[in-house]
Amino acid sequence: MISRVKAAVAQLVGGTASSSGAGSCPDSGPRFPYSRPVFLQLSPEESERAADHSGRPILVPALGSRSRLALPWHTGYAEVINAGKSVLNEDQAAREIVQVERKDWKNGTAAETVKDDGSAGKDEQIEREQSSHGILGGCCALAVVYLLGKYYVANAGDSRAILIRGGETIPLSNEFTPESERQRLQYLGYLQPHLLGNEFTHLEFPRRIQHREIGRKMLFRDYSMTGWAYKTIEEDDLKFPLVYGEGKKARVMATIGVTRGLGDHNLKVYCSNIHIKPFLSCVPEVKVYDVAQHEHGVDDVIVLGTDGLWDVVSDREVADAVIRILSSCDADNPNRFTLAAQELVMRSRGILKEHGWRLSNDRLGSGDDISVFVIPLYGHT
Ligand code: MG
Repeated sequence: MISRVKAAVAQLVGGTASSSGAGSCPDSGPRFPYSRPVFLQLSPEESERAADHSGRPILVPALGSRSRLALPWHTGYAEVINAGKSVLNEDQAAREIVQVERKDWKNGTAAETVKDDGSAGKDEQIEREQSSHGILGGCCALAVVYLLGKYYVANAGDSRAILIRGGETIPLSNEFTPESERQRLQYLGYLQPHLLGNEFTHLEFPRRIQHREIGRKMLFRDYSMTGWAYKTIEEDDLKFPLVYGEGKKARVMATIGVTRGLGDHNLKVYCSNIHIKPFLSCVPEVKVYDVAQHEHGVDDVIVLGTDGLWDVVSDREVADAVIRILSSCDADNPNRFTLAAQELVMRSRGILKEHGWRLSNDRLGSGDDISVFVIPLYGHT
């Protein structure tokens, strides 16, 4: 069973690969052609219009669709392209319904495979395919699997999932950033200093240190410390910190702001031969939510969003917007979850004004790609 789930995930990660698969003839087209989610059912012309960085149209599945491509339980979805930071939308949503059969559980196979979440194998597959197809880059991943009455929420990166239940918000994932993973990164740098290329120090200081400060006392943090302590500055401390910057500006080796994900095997520090991949983990954090353990109302949902959403709206703002939309629709309106997703994308993108995309309170809107799922929790146990 697990292997069939893995196969389905492999298909999703493979995107809309040509039907002939990995061993396909080079003449059959690109291995990973760009496209938008299949369930949006966009025509080629609509796909082209979706890439309008100035108008930034919000895309939703056809309302009232009874197509076999429709999302299960009337799950809502909406997305919008970025304001011009990249030519194509860097988010890629997907959904797959997998039929699983219970087979012989006595042979031990299932128990053995459960120990492996498959992320390492997938990361290696991406490495092979990137090198054979000359592809660069990497991606974060946030996946939700509903199986036997439980949701499994797996996150590797800076997308996020929250639960809205009875008006309250409950996080279902954590972001993995240089700040949240500082201690793991520093510990690896401490254990394997050769990975730092003699240019970085695994220690953290509140600010960059000047040469003239050698011999003075300065606050620092090592991998085992949550708070700060003093140390005497040495020559080695002048190296650039492995983790540096705050908030969205925090970087590993002054290069990347996300510390988990897939790919990026060839990423190096600018103008150097220092590889960053050893510090990037492909292992997701998995949280399990047992639906049957709780009572759910018709407005209780899981919201999945890429960082384009969460960068500009708080959990509370998301919950308030979702509750407002859902409570304004009839409970049997199958479009209400897509209307909620559309509202979230609209709120985080904002309106184009003279000085760019602005939110209703005139804060800066998100210029990133934004993708949102709103999954109902009521009535599908
Ligand atoms: Mg993003």
